[in-house]
Amino acid sequence: MKVGTTDYQKILNQIQQELSQAEVSGKVAAYIPELAKVSPEKFGMHLYNLEGENYCFGNSEERFSIQSISKVFSLALAMKIIDSDLWKRVGVEPSGARFNSLSLLEDNGGIPRNPFINAGALVVADVLVSCFSNPKAAFLSFMHELTGNSTISYDETVAASERSEGYRNFAMANYLKSFGNIKNDVEEVLDFYFHQCSITMSCKELSQAFIVFANKGNLLDTDRQLLTGKQVKRINALMLTCGFYDEAGEFSFEVGLPGKSGVGGGIVAVHPNHYAVAVWSPPLNPKGNSARGMAALERLTTLTGYSIF
Ligand code: GLN
Repeated sequence: MKVGTTDYQKILNQIQQELSQAEVSGKVAAYIPELAKVSPEKFGMHLYNLEGENYCFGNSEERFSIQSISKVFSLALAMKIIDSDLWKRVGVEPSGARFNSLSLLEDNGGIPRNPFINAGALVVADVLVSCFSNPKAAFLSFMHELTGNSTISYDETVAASERSEGYRNFAMANYLKSFGNIKNDVEEVLDFYFHQCSITMSCKELSQAFIVFANKGNLLDTDRQLLTGKQVKRINALMLTCGFYDEAGEFSFEVGLPGKSGVGGGIVAVHPNHYAVAVWSPPLNPKGNSARGMAALERLTTLTGYSIF
């Protein structure tokens, strides 16, 4: 079913109206001190489709900390470089555990269950640190290529804030290193990881960046192929099965799209061959995913009657 041009804006307006009035459950992430300063009232959404049309409401053009959404971009860059060798070091199975869980590493011999839990993203970060002499610059230039927007950058204050309280990620990286699944200096890998998570983007920018996953790896404006169809298929599959950690089943059940969340309160979801959509609302549910963001995307696929299923 094709959703008419005018319907998307009408549906987004309805979502804004319904959910702005609803009580906001959840708590803004506080374990990264800088994130605790963000207003819980922020709420924005932006949908960008393959026709190049934009639909939005609220704080859709305000930048926020993308946090774990960055794991999709780092994975895409690593797959461009090493692909099959990557899967010897990180799995492709849902973890059924929290995003920052250490427990599954012991039984899996230091191979993280998937690239979207922190342990897996640290291995991906290690791959990028191995591949580039200046990984932070290389990652930003990939982001600029993907978005056509050279203003996208790291937020040094957020990166330093996460580092200052990053005991768990330090433990995780050291634990991975003890299994030989971090090749570089742990400090360097974590520095890269904290920086990738600190990138700030708006819902508008995120939906435009994710359109490549809806468009078989092609950039929309230039039609240039950035990722192969196979890479995009795999990344979308991982977003569907692992993008929300121990809530991936729930997201699939309620929304029915591949997607990825971050503790900054952002969620991006993709409808292959149709659109990419981003939503931002900082209060998180107990699983670390934006409570209102999940509800907004559930309304989107319910009101359009249209998901991948
Ligand atoms: N930088 C955050 C962390 O490592 C990312 C977590 C997230 O967004 N789920 O804890």
